[in-house]
Amino acid sequence: MRRIGVDAAAVSEALRGARSVVVCGHVNPDGDAVGSVLGATLALQSLGVEVVPTLADAKAAPVLYAFLPGFPLLQAAEGLEPPEVFLALDVPSLPRLGAAEGLARASSRIVVIDHHPDNGSFGAVNWADPTAAATGQTLWRLLPSLGVKPTPEIARCCYVALMTDTGRFSYGNTDADVFRDAAEMVSAGADPFHTYTATYESQSAAAMRLLGLVLSRVTIANGGLVAYSWVTDGDLDETHGIMAETENLVDVVRTVGGVDAVFLVKCAEGSCRVSLRSKTGTDIGEIARRFGGGGHAAAAGFTAEGSLDDVVGSLLPLLPGGDGE
Ligand code: 5GP
Ligand code: MN
Repeated sequence: MRRIGVDAAAVSEALRGARSVVVCGHVNPDGDAVGSVLGATLALQSLGVEVVPTLADAKAAPVLYAFLPGFPLLQAAEGLEPPEVFLALDVPSLPRLGAAEGLARASSRIVVIDHHPDNGSFGAVNWADPTAAATGQTLWRLLPSLGVKPTPEIARCCYVALMTDTGRFSYGNTDADVFRDAAEMVSAGADPFHTYTATYESQSAAAMRLLGLVLSRVTIANGGLVAYSWVTDGDLDETHGIMAETENLVDVVRTVGGVDAVFLVKCAEGSCRVSLRSKTGTDIGEIARRFGGGGHAAAAGFTAEGSLDDVVGSLLPLLPGGDGE
């Protein structure tokens, strides 16, 4: 079991003793980033620590997760006073902090809690556990040494982190420990029905129209080993949808049978964000890094300048069945 950094006691000590803490997740925050940030905020608040949860990109608030406790506390990083401790959650490197990177650098101490295998240990204190399915799971396991009693609100935040990063308890990272930790969270007050419904069954009509477009475009390539689709800013105008509502759309592309890898391209204002998923063990994190991105072996992403056709044309050859593999 490869763990990066120090032990849980050192992380707990750095957080418990802090006069002020700013907590932040990665840009384009997913359920793990938002759940971990809000869970950590509530946990530190319960210890009497002065804590502010922030967004790495205030223009892209993760409204999908507005149902989570503590969501209204989220603030833009711009204009905040540098804290004594900057707690980065689900963040493998400083640039992934987006607009909050300067605030992190200006703080007295950066503490990192993460589960990305490519975590660069950029903090003064680092607790990165690539064997964990979600950062929210790592945080949950830290609560006893932090001296935090898990409230139903903290449990709900960590549960959403774990549910989303395991693809609703279905991806290859779903093991017995995931179910044991999830069971603990449910015992502490997380409600599986409520959190599932709020996350996956609360789509807007615009999101349904976006889903329809993504489904209608699913393309099978590389001799049947890859499936992909795309969303453009024109689609957002047409459907009145917002980019935040595209977060889980790559999940519908991965429902295609017989493929090794899938991806969803989201193009806006001259650049494209790509969400890559591997179903059969191809390390797509390594492929994402070739484009300046990163992530896990089975779930990764990158952003590239250029058109949709450019991005698809340069990515397909590197994926299973591609001629540049
Ligand atoms: P998603 O496709 O859901 O945006 O991201 C999947 C995984 O890849 C997440 O762990 C996310 O943090 C990571 N990821 C996505 N885009 C990038 C990127 O541009 N750089 C890095 N380092 N990781 C990324
Ligand atoms: Mn994560």
